[in-house]
Amino acid sequence: MKIFVVNAGSSSLKYQLIDMDDESVIAKGICERIGTGGVIKHKASDGREYRAETDMPTHSEAFAQVVYALTQSEAKVIDSLDEISAIGHRVVQGGTLFSESVLVDEEVIRKVESLGELAPLHNPANALGIRACIAAFGPEKPQTVVFDTAFHQTMEPKAYMYALPYEYYEKYGIRRYGAHGTSHRFVSDRVAELLGKPKKDLKIITCHLGNGCSITAIKDGVCCDTSMGFTPLDGFMMGTRSGAVDPSALTYIAEKEHMSPQEISDMCNKKSGALGISGLSNDNRDLVEAAEGGHVRARLALDMQRYQIVKYIGAYTAAMNGVDAIVLTGGIGENNPELREKICNEISYLGITCDTAANHCRGKEARISTADSKVAVYVIPTNEELVIARDTLALISK
Ligand code: AMP
Repeated sequence: MKIFVVNAGSSSLKYQLIDMDDESVIAKGICERIGTGGVIKHKASDGREYRAETDMPTHSEAFAQVVYALTQSEAKVIDSLDEISAIGHRVVQGGTLFSESVLVDEEVIRKVESLGELAPLHNPANALGIRACIAAFGPEKPQTVVFDTAFHQTMEPKAYMYALPYEYYEKYGIRRYGAHGTSHRFVSDRVAELLGKPKKDLKIITCHLGNGCSITAIKDGVCCDTSMGFTPLDGFMMGTRSGAVDPSALTYIAEKEHMSPQEISDMCNKKSGALGISGLSNDNRDLVEAAEGGHVRARLALDMQRYQIVKYIGAYTAAMNGVDAIVLTGGIGENNPELREKICNEISYLGITCDTAANHCRGKEARISTADSKVAVYVIPTNEELVIARDTLALISK
């Protein structure tokens, strides 16, 4: 059975076609610059590629290109869309309306759109992706939505509330929602499998370290706290996002620089984090190279981020009164052995020793703490598309 996974952004549309018989990727691709041009890059698993620049004013034209790439291009992988059994969509914000993945109907789409105020860059685009799919596949083809926030809906109020006047929670839903939930769910399920223990018997800290970064505490099999908040800006510093800062610093800058709330938000989301500190790049590889060459602020950015990660691990260990396993994932977590070794050394108080030979891996699953370490530290490549495909299969099989 083939399942199609869609991740629609405001100006992009990423997709994967997955064969659920062996969970392999048949083809994947991306449409970029939707609304301002249009380019599709498509790749079949046997290496054949299709690339075209063509006008994509909306997600519908982008989708028409995806259909062409899949069914007619030189890198085609199917003869017709009938071969696809169902479609799973990634949706960023499910608010308190969704605590699990669901089948799509008109009411679900309207709810996804209604949550647009909480995720203005993402939810409207996600809904456009769903509507474009309905237009391409017809209304009878089952579609599902899988939410980035759903995994975090198990947090208790003491973890998700901000200490602001309660009326803003009631009026506007101001609270912690978290993000990257699909990734945290995947790697925490997998580490339990690798340890051969039920997830509900483990205290797990999962660190998703990519361009966006978040850390989650998982106890009794469910999320009990996570670093991202009302939006994916909260937590610790990321590629271009600041993470948590004293709100008074922001009102002070706004006054001094005559900046609007939107300008402050853009500054915190797009010009801060590792990019803002280094003045060089948001890309971890660039920063590592520059720091090795003596770039002082690149070194500072790397030191700050690692320090904040170590503090979160300590905080969540305290919140859960212990930890059994720590997982590192995301582009940085999966590919930066030096960072992983330093993290292990800086949390050696937990009884962790880094297995330096095992830690040399990149993009591969590995236990990187020695066998006699009291806490197991793992690198587990995340696979959000596979979670979406699995959830979709489960929902259409019900
Ligand atoms: P993601 O958002 O998960 O795709 O992760 C993107 C981040 O992973 C970027 O900061 C990349 O620099 C980083 N990354 C990817 N490959 C490597 C690598 N080989 N070494 C260090 N960082 C990497």
